[in-house]
Amino acid sequence: MASKRDYYEVLGVDKNASEQEIKSAFRKKAKEYHPDLNKDNPDAAEKFKEAQEAYSVLSDENKRKMYDQYGHAGVGAGASQGGFGGAGGFGASDFDFGDIFESIFGGGFGGGGFSGFGGRSSTSSARRGSDVLMQMNLTFDEAVYGCEKKFHLDVVEDCEECHGEGGFDVEKCSTCHGSGTVTTQQNTILGSFMTKTTCPDCGGKGKTYKKKCSSCGGRGKVKTNKNLTINIPAGIKTGDRQRISGKGNPGVNGGSNGDLYIEFIVKEHKYFQRDDDDIYLEIPLNIAEAIYGCKKEIPTLYGNVKISVPAGTDSGDKQRIRGKGVDNKYQRHKGDMYLIFKVYTPKRLSRDQKKLVEKLMETDLDTSEIDSFNRFVRDNED
Ligand SMILES: [Zn+2]
Ligand SMILES: [Zn+2]
Repeated sequence: MASKRDYYEVLGVDKNASEQEIKSAFRKKAKEYHPDLNKDNPDAAEKFKEAQEAYSVLSDENKRKMYDQYGHAGVGAGASQGGFGGAGGFGASDFDFGDIFESIFGGGFGGGGFSGFGGRSSTSSARRGSDVLMQMNLTFDEAVYGCEKKFHLDVVEDCEECHGEGGFDVEKCSTCHGSGTVTTQQNTILGSFMTKTTCPDCGGKGKTYKKKCSSCGGRGKVKTNKNLTINIPAGIKTGDRQRISGKGNPGVNGGSNGDLYIEFIVKEHKYFQRDDDDIYLEIPLNIAEAIYGCKKEIPTLYGNVKISVPAGTDSGDKQRIRGKGVDNKYQRHKGDMYLIFKVYTPKRLSRDQKKLVEKLMETDLDTSEIDSFNRFVRDNED
């Protein structure tokens, strides 16, 4: 495909156009280029498709923002398909089409709504709903140990009462005799034309029902606020996703629902720092502990343990404890724990402590590094 035209240009609106202006500009273009109304214009279908794509992006506040910022790349090449739709509700490209087509054809395209463009055959074909992305916050502990999370979500699913049919006592549509399309003859000065359109009475299904389902009002779909529970395995990290099948946006014309993806955001811990499945922990030492070495009780993800801090420990020295990192059930991997020592020098000393330090200073405490530095200072002088 050639390079894409600017979406604003496609609809003929300026960059600051209001929601309403975009909507009415699209209505105009849809009427102008609808393939069924433009038999003699071979470009109409393409133009219609282009307008539909532009509208699907500009009518969605988030997609429009992405488009304004990143251009076509920001909203994916085929914005009307793939990608993620908004949570709940109907996919942006489904929305309003029933409405628009009613205004063009004087009613009749209700039900599942219009499914697409480019030929009448697609009007009643099944199309899978778009996927939905939802973000979920987890505490450090929830992510490390795993947990069960409950949440509510509006899900549009097949009506249980009528099994998604929209009615009971099925019979062949008398308007289209079961074909789903109706052919009308138009007589013009150029001759008569046969026009095939989706049957207004059955919406292309080819069947109608003696009794409309009252639970779903004949739509075959119902929106319910579901209580969902997911089990989050130990070891989830920020950015990991979990898929819940069939809980995305509803399909069209009997198409299955899209999927729901939950993306996790893990909060940081005050002390434990996580790097993938490894855990880093700063161990504060006072100068005596650092000089003399000591035994210390320290926390791990799996309870406290005792460690030995060797004599002469510096700030930044590390100690590894194998297998005490995150036990990642998600990726079947166990991390390690790293202790990073940090020596804290006291800011205030008692009189006794001062005396002890003075005594200490009378001794030779210099290390080879200090000796070498002192030599550098002396050499630098001459
Ligand atoms: Zn029919
Ligand atoms: Zn129903």
